[in-house]
Amino acid sequence: MNVSRRDFLKLCGSSAALVGVGAKFSETPLGTTGKAVPTGPRYEYGVLIDTTKCVGCKTCQQACKVANGLPTDERPTGLSATTLCFVDMKNISADVSKPAIKPVKRQCMHCENPACVSVCPVGAIEKKENGAVAYDADKCMGCRYCMMACPFGVPKYDWNSPNPKINKCSQACMAEGKSKTPACVSACPAKALTYGNREELLLAAKSRISQDPTKYVPQIYGEKEIGGTTMLYLSGVPFEQLGFPAGLPLEALPELTWNVQSKIPVVLGTVLTLLSGIAWWTHRRQPAKHVPVPVQVEAE
Ligand code: SF4
Ligand code: SF4
Ligand code: SF4
Repeated sequence: MNVSRRDFLKLCGSSAALVGVGAKFSETPLGTTGKAVPTGPRYEYGVLIDTTKCVGCKTCQQACKVANGLPTDERPTGLSATTLCFVDMKNISADVSKPAIKPVKRQCMHCENPACVSVCPVGAIEKKENGAVAYDADKCMGCRYCMMACPFGVPKYDWNSPNPKINKCSQACMAEGKSKTPACVSACPAKALTYGNREELLLAAKSRISQDPTKYVPQIYGEKEIGGTTMLYLSGVPFEQLGFPAGLPLEALPELTWNVQSKIPVVLGTVLTLLSGIAWWTHRRQPAKHVPVPVQVEAE
């Protein structure tokens, strides 16, 4: 490929424009879609998941698949594009000869101030007023920024699709009047799951801890982590043993992710400029080589 000086200057111009846009973009506190990331308490519902009551029957996992039209004949080993709710059978014993299994239901935490929403460049993930963090596959372009931003590793890529996108629990099982309660909650035979107003769920969780302090660790996971989530957990063992990330900040993540995200256009522009320079340098016009002209011998 020959890159002329004019092409090189054009590429540099485009890259510089990208850098400029990036720099301008990084000044705004808004998300990439131009919409402000929702903050503060809203009219929200959530689910209290009492892991001490869970019996590991996986009825919730199966009910979720049915409600979302996903294959029910798999044996999932974790959350995936076709498993939006997964019951993790955690062995919390340090002694391999004496396993101690604690089942824990995992799904999207429906964060109060979701990092996935703040990084999605096309607005495919949206925090709803009812607390759900909804996902719209029709808008998703499969960039996977949300996968990198989520501190809980929730969005999963559909590697088997020719047009891969991500998938996650959107509480779509309740959308369009399908149900007033999530399918997983309705299905639980052990009453380990309670759906309701987040503030009331927090009061109920605190009451359970104070009434039985030997049964529970004195923490409601999701009350404060990364600014709070609408999925709240109670446990009888430290949450790290159940696979929850320890040491998460108590403030919301979008500001942290925004700091990284806002630099992407600048970095991209710089890389483009550099690559354009290298392409021009390696393909710049070479001095014409001497090509011998065939001697014409005229017939006598
Ligand atoms: S809320 Fe709905 S989509 Fe989410 S885990 Fe429960 S059943 Fe599945
Ligand atoms: S858990 Fe992850 S995917 Fe779910 S709302 Fe929070 S950041 Fe988004
Ligand atoms: S249905 Fe209830 S008891 Fe059964 S695995 Fe799910 S949360 Fe646990």
